[in-house]
Amino acid sequence: MTTADPPSGAVLSVRGLSVRFRMRGGRHVAAVTDASFDLAPGECLALVGESGCGKSVLASALLGLLPGNARTAGSARLAGTAAQPAIDLLTASERELARCVRGRRAGLVPQSPAAHLTPVRTVRAQLEETVRELTDVSRHELRSAAEGAAERAAFPVDHLDRYPHQLSGGLAQRAATALALVGEAPLLIADEPTTGLDRDLVDRTVDELRRHAADGRALLMITHDLAAAERIADRVAVMYAGRIVELGAAADFFGAPGPRHPYARGLLDALPERAFNPIPGQPPELGALPDGCAFAARCPHATAACEAVPEPIDGVSCHHVPTDAQARAQEPADA
Ligand code: SF4
Repeated sequence: MTTADPPSGAVLSVRGLSVRFRMRGGRHVAAVTDASFDLAPGECLALVGESGCGKSVLASALLGLLPGNARTAGSARLAGTAAQPAIDLLTASERELARCVRGRRAGLVPQSPAAHLTPVRTVRAQLEETVRELTDVSRHELRSAAEGAAERAAFPVDHLDRYPHQLSGGLAQRAATALALVGEAPLLIADEPTTGLDRDLVDRTVDELRRHAADGRALLMITHDLAAAERIADRVAVMYAGRIVELGAAADFFGAPGPRHPYARGLLDALPERAFNPIPGQPPELGALPDGCAFAARCPHATAACEAVPEPIDGVSCHHVPTDAQARAQEPADA
């Protein structure tokens, strides 16, 4: 199968997704470049990488939430249902996205929940309205359905009558998660869903998100929390400077043989529970990317070949992917 052939039955097939922002002075920012991946029914894909690498822009592109100076290319096919045909999320009209897709066919746990919640309405009012809009719960069951949705996201029921400004960051996050889960959308995109939560709540939240992916639904979780990704992901996509540089099975990524792209290896090595060895330097500006591999300035394996952008081979975009034996030799002795 080539990357141009979406697998039959994928909930979401993204091909060649690029996002460019046109800035003042005619400058362009290449926020996402040529991203391709599929999400199978029941699958959780974790999209990981440092802040500013384009993860959230990719999520916004899928939901038609980019600002007016953004231009997209490629395709993002959301599978059809018994009642609705497949749809390309990149070319669908705002009317289609607002009426038929967002919340119903593609849910979002937003990165900035406080900004996502309506400030003048209590959490209960917002949950009840969402339950009424997206489910067939009867009027007299609304209250208990809203409370059930809150409990599902570990939002305390005795805080339901609070307004968003009365919530801590963690509670706002849980309120936004509760709202996103109501519609049982076939595709759920969770953008940093564990921000502001302590470890116990992180585990509980991601476990609930994982449960959402049961019954043929799919989850795209964008996160810099690699422990959360390891806990629930089936596959991991690593993004650097707007490109997916490695895409593979989570078990291989977090276990043996481990990541194969030098940046992906660096991400894991930077964890305190691993080598605690940060990647030197900073990612390049997305508005001033180098011509070749964007990781070259930080990469210990860079050679003259890296002056050309590497094409993905077996899910890894690198001119010098180590063999399994070399990768094992680079693992810390106690890993
Ligand atoms: S292509 Fe070259 S610079 Fe880029 S990650 Fe691979 S070895 Fe490093």
